[in-house]
Amino acid sequence: MKDSARAVIIGGGVVGASTLFHLAKIGWTDVLLLEKSELTSGSTWHAAGGMHTFNGEANISRLQKYTIDLYREIEAMSGQSCGLHANGGLMLAANQGELDSLKLICSRARYLGMETAMISLEEARELNPLIDTSYFTGALWRADGGHCDPSGTTQAYVKAARILGAEVERYTRVLRLDPRADGSWDVVTDKGTVHAEHVINCAGLWAREVGHMVGIELPVLAMEHHYLLTEDIPELRGREREIVNTTDYSGEIYMRQERGGALIGTYEPHGIVWSPVKTPDDFSMQLLPDDFERLAPQFEVGFQHFPALGRVGIRKAINGPFTFAPDGNPLVGPVRGLRNYWVACAVMAGFSQAGGIGLVLSRWMAHGDPGQDIISMDVARFGAFATPQYTSLKVRENYARRFRLAYPNEELPAARPVRRSPIYDRLLAAGAVMGANFGLEHALWFAPPGIAPLETPTYRRSEAFDIVKAECKAVRSAVGLYETSNYGKYEVTGRGARTWLDRIFASRIPAPGRLSLAPMLNPAGRIVGDLSIACLDEERFLIIGSGFAEEFHLRWWQMHGPPADVALRSAASTLTGVSIAGPRARELLQRLVRLDLSGAAFRLFNVAQCAVGLAPAILTRAGFTGELGYEVWTTPDYFLTLYEQLWEAGGDLGLVHFGGRALSSLRLEKNYGSFNKDFRPDYTVAETGLDRFVDFSKSEFIGREAALAERATGPKRRFVVMEVDAIDAEVVGYESIIKDGAAVGYVTSGAYGHCIDKSLAAGYVPGELAREGEVLEIDILGHGCTARVRLQPLYDPKGLRLRS
Ligand SMILES: Cc1cc2nc3c(=O)[nH]c(=O)nc-3n(C[C@H](O)[C@H](O)[C@H](O)COP(=O)(O)OP(=O)(O)OC[C@H]3O[C@@H](n4cnc5c(N)ncnc54)[C@H](O)[C@@H]3O)c2cc1C
Repeated sequence: MKDSARAVIIGGGVVGASTLFHLAKIGWTDVLLLEKSELTSGSTWHAAGGMHTFNGEANISRLQKYTIDLYREIEAMSGQSCGLHANGGLMLAANQGELDSLKLICSRARYLGMETAMISLEEARELNPLIDTSYFTGALWRADGGHCDPSGTTQAYVKAARILGAEVERYTRVLRLDPRADGSWDVVTDKGTVHAEHVINCAGLWAREVGHMVGIELPVLAMEHHYLLTEDIPELRGREREIVNTTDYSGEIYMRQERGGALIGTYEPHGIVWSPVKTPDDFSMQLLPDDFERLAPQFEVGFQHFPALGRVGIRKAINGPFTFAPDGNPLVGPVRGLRNYWVACAVMAGFSQAGGIGLVLSRWMAHGDPGQDIISMDVARFGAFATPQYTSLKVRENYARRFRLAYPNEELPAARPVRRSPIYDRLLAAGAVMGANFGLEHALWFAPPGIAPLETPTYRRSEAFDIVKAECKAVRSAVGLYETSNYGKYEVTGRGARTWLDRIFASRIPAPGRLSLAPMLNPAGRIVGDLSIACLDEERFLIIGSGFAEEFHLRWWQMHGPPADVALRSAASTLTGVSIAGPRARELLQRLVRLDLSGAAFRLFNVAQCAVGLAPAILTRAGFTGELGYEVWTTPDYFLTLYEQLWEAGGDLGLVHFGGRALSSLRLEKNYGSFNKDFRPDYTVAETGLDRFVDFSKSEFIGREAALAERATGPKRRFVVMEVDAIDAEVVGYESIIKDGAAVGYVTSGAYGHCIDKSLAAGYVPGELAREGEVLEIDILGHGCTARVRLQPLYDPKGLRLRS
C-alpha cells in the first residue's frame, strides 16, 4: 500500500467508487480508496438496483439524471457491464393529491430535459400488465430510469478510476484519523498509515463511526429494508420487453421485473432502525432475518394492486440495512470546523445519486466549489439541533413516508418541537400553525378564534387561503407582528471587522447607525448569501440572514477565515426578534421608544441601540413586507416582556399577528426574492438583480472579477416576478416556464398576492424575455396558465409606503 495520497476515500460502496472515479477524472489521480472488506460489502451489494430521476429538489433530480446517463460512459471506459435495464418508470396515483403531484413532476421535467408524460391507465397497463388499474386514477410515465446491477456498477466505477490512475486497497480497515497541524491527515489502518491531504467519509453503514473518528456526530441512521423476489409469473412469459419499473404511491410499493418474475419492495409505516447506537465492525455481505409478519399487511396491498404477484410463490426475500439522513437526502461536502474532511454519506438511493455526488464533490475538492447549488444535499443543512435522538425520530418518519407524497403546505410532526422561542406558547394561544426552520418553531399562519389551527395537505388553495388574506390586508392597512427569531443572526466584532466584511460581502459595509443589504458571492460570482448588515458601532456588526443557512454561512465565513482581530459568532440562540410592519408601525413603536422615529429622524435602514419598553434592544428600520417597518432584536430573557408590551401598545391600532405564509405573499407583491428559494448558488449576482447592491468601486471582494465580467456582457437570464392566470393553485417551485411551446426557464417560488388579488410566480427567464408584459405560460397541475412578466412590483411600485 502506498504511504501517501492526495485524497483517501474511506469505503468501497457505490458512493466511494463513484467519488474515486470522479476525483481521478477531474485530475486528482493520486487518490486511494480503502475498503475494510470486499467492495460493495456494506449496503451496496444487496440493493435492488432501481434508478430514477425523481426528487422533490430539481438540482438533485438533475444529478440523478447525470448518474443514470453516466453508466454508458463508465461501461465503455471500463469494459465492465453495469447490467443496465433502461426500461423507464411508471408512477401510479390513486387520489387527487397524488395525481396533482404527478402533474407537478411533469411540469418540472420539461425544463430539466426529462421525458415524462401523463398517460391513461390503459397505456399504463400496456407498460406493466400486472397492474390492477381499478385501484388507480392516473399514471405518469418517464423515459429515464430502470435498474442496474449494483455490483457491476460499483466495479465499473472502480475499473474506470483505476484506468485513470486511482488505486484501491481492499481488506484495509481505517482505524483512526489523526490530524496534522497543516490540515492533512494520518489515516491509520490495520495495514499501516497513509498520509493524506484530504479524507472523504464514504463509509455508508459505518459513516457514523467514521464521523466519531474526528469527533463529529453525523445525522445518519440505518433502517432495515425488505424486498421479495417472486417465482416466474405466467403473464410475463413471451413478452418482448420487460415491464416498466412501477411505483405505487397509495400502496407504498415499488416493483419491477426480475428475470421471469418480479421484485417487489415496500417502505412500511413502522420501520425498524438497524444498529441504533453502533454498527458492528464485523458486519459484511450479510442480510438480516426476514420479518414477514410485520410486513404482511404491506405486501398484501401489493398483491391486491398487482394480483399476479399473489398467485406465484416467493423465491427469495432480502432484508438489508441502508442509511438515511433526517430528510432523506444525502449528506455531502466539507464539515465546518474540520480541515480537509469531507463526507458523502446517508445516500439512500445510491444507484440514482452516487454519480452526481461524485461529480459535485470532485469539483468542490478540486475547484473549491461544487459548481452548482446543492444546498439540499449539503451536510451544512443540519446543525447542532440534529442530535442522535432527532435523527432517530426523523429518519423513521422519513422512511415511513418514503412513498407518501409531500404536500407543499405540509409540516411533518416528528421530533417537534425541538427549539422554541420564549413566545412560542403565546403564539400557539393566538392560533399559530407552526413550521420548523433549522429546528426552530415559527408561525406560518394564525387560525382566528373558533377555527381549528389545522390545514388539509394539498397542492391547491387550502382553508388557510382566506385567513392568510386577512393577515396580509391587516398588515397593509394597519400593523402586523411577525416573529423573526428564526432568521440567522451573527455578531462580527473587532478592530478588523470592517475590513474583513468588506472582502466577504460584495456590498458597501454600512457606517455606524446604518444597515445595508448585502449579497455575498462565491469566486464565480454566484450568490451564496443575501443578508443584511447593521453597523452598531465601528467595530461591531449584526448580520441577519436565512435561518436555515446558519451552518452553511458559518462554514463559508470560517473558510474565508476571519483574521485574529475579528470575532465571529452565531447569535441564533442569543437574539430573538420581531418585525413590526404596516402604516401604523411607527405610531405603535413610538409609544415604547424615546428615540424620534419620525421619517426624517429615523430613515429607512437606520439602526439604533435603544430601549423598546422595558427591553434593551437593537432597532432597525427594515423589513420584508414593503410597508413601513421595523425589526426589534433583544435577548431571549427580555423577549416575552417585549412581546407583551408591543401587544399592549398595539391593541387600539389594529395590531395582528402574521406568519410566514403572509410574508411570502407580501414580499412577492413587492418583487422581493428570498435566499434558498429564489437566490441560490445557481444564479449569478446580475441574474438575481442583487447587483444593484454591489459596490463595484471596492478594489477587492470575493467574486469581484466574475461580477465585473458579467456586468460587461449582461446576464444571460433574469429573475422576474410574473402575474399568473391561475385557477385554484399557486406554483410550488421548479415548474417549467414555457414560451412558444419550449421550456425557457423555471419557477423558484410563488404565492397569491392577496392585496393585489393576483397569483404570483417568481423565476428565471432568458434576458430577452425579461420584458414588461412578456406573455409566457406555466403549467400548474396540468393547466397551461398564462403568465405575464411584471418588472415593477404590482404593489406600491415607487416604494412610497416603505419610505413613508
Ligand atoms: C434491501 C435494499 C434495497 C435497496 N435498493 C436500492 C435501489 O433499488 N436503488 C438504489 O439506488 N438504492 C437502493 N438501496 C440503497 C443502496 O444500497 C445505498 O444507497 C448504497 O448502497 C449506499 O452506498 P454507500 O457506498 O454509501 O454505502 P455502503 O455500501 O454501505 O459502503 C460503505 C463501505 O465502506 C466500508 N467501510 C466502512 N467503514 C470502513 C473503515 N473504517 N475502513 C474501511 N472501509 C470501511 C464498508 O465496508 C462498505 O463497503 C437499497 C438498500 C437496501 C438495503
